[in-house]
Amino acid sequence: MQAAIFKGEGNLVLTDNHPKPELTAPDQVLIRVTGVGICGTDLHILQVPPAHPARIGIVEGHEFTGVVETLGEGVSGFRVGESVLIDPHPGCGVCDECRRQRPDRCIPLLASSGEPGHPGTIGIFSDGAMAEYVVVPQRSLYKVDQSVPSHIAALAEPLACVINASEKLKVQPGEFVVVLGAGPIGLLFTALLRANGASKLIVSEPSEYRRNAAGEVGADIVVHPDDLAETMATEMPGGADVAVEAVGPLLPLAIGLVGAGGRVLQFGHDETVNPAVPVADLLKKEVTIYGAFIGRYTFDTAARIMASGKLPLDKIVSHQLPLSKVHEGLDLLREGKGLKIVLRPGE
Ligand SMILES: [Zn+2]
Ligand SMILES: [Zn+2]
Repeated sequence: MQAAIFKGEGNLVLTDNHPKPELTAPDQVLIRVTGVGICGTDLHILQVPPAHPARIGIVEGHEFTGVVETLGEGVSGFRVGESVLIDPHPGCGVCDECRRQRPDRCIPLLASSGEPGHPGTIGIFSDGAMAEYVVVPQRSLYKVDQSVPSHIAALAEPLACVINASEKLKVQPGEFVVVLGAGPIGLLFTALLRANGASKLIVSEPSEYRRNAAGEVGADIVVHPDDLAETMATEMPGGADVAVEAVGPLLPLAIGLVGAGGRVLQFGHDETVNPAVPVADLLKKEVTIYGAFIGRYTFDTAARIMASGKLPLDKIVSHQLPLSKVHEGLDLLREGKGLKIVLRPGE
């Protein structure tokens, strides 16, 4: 089958004769992949030097959806031919962290990556979905309304992560929100926090292409970062209630943007940066900083949002390409000419 393999040092190799995976345990499911998104994390993995670790030799692709092809003999509750959402970092469900509602800290999942603090995500530390078929454990599967198209269902993982983060912020109607970055994650935050009731929402983004998308998913004001300070002075003179960092190195800026008692969320993930925190500003304003990483039992919520059609998720998918064009998709993202790019293996 066709597959895109991470070979290390910025090298993703597309091959047409990767072996089709087979079930090796009774709780496994063979999925025929119908959509796999290219994530900023895939770009980080392929950066030189890498901004995110990954296991050399694995098939990339952790944001995916597909159709059940074969069920292991121990699997129940799903049927062959059913479209499903797939959590690429499922907790084991029984370790101490999972039992404390922290599947993101699942002890065996963290141990399986071999990288401290990183869960053994499918598509980063084991074979993922930039391929025609992938094998996943049953506990990765979530039901979804069968009318949800596959390019939308492929957003389940980033949406689940953004839901988890947004649940911490608890944005209320009437609040002022700033989102830094209008990549797919920044756009998902914009759409979700708009739905939460933010009464004024500013998005800051250098790419004109992405600024236009931010306006389409619910931003009131979209600015180039060079103009952000001036816009804040007129539109939110007392500072924002909430600032979302969806870029990587901008935590100091985000702290500066909120007013007294403001909340800041660090979501952008770039392990090559370690910005200095403006401590005096932080404590004088009594700012609360949240960090958020992956989803915590939020795929069911993502499935409901998708089925409702109430978020403009289709505006976040800019391209659907055959898997054979994975390098074209990566280049579009590097050049800021794409939002979420969904690859379609088998087409
Ligand atoms: Zn991702
Ligand atoms: Zn666990």
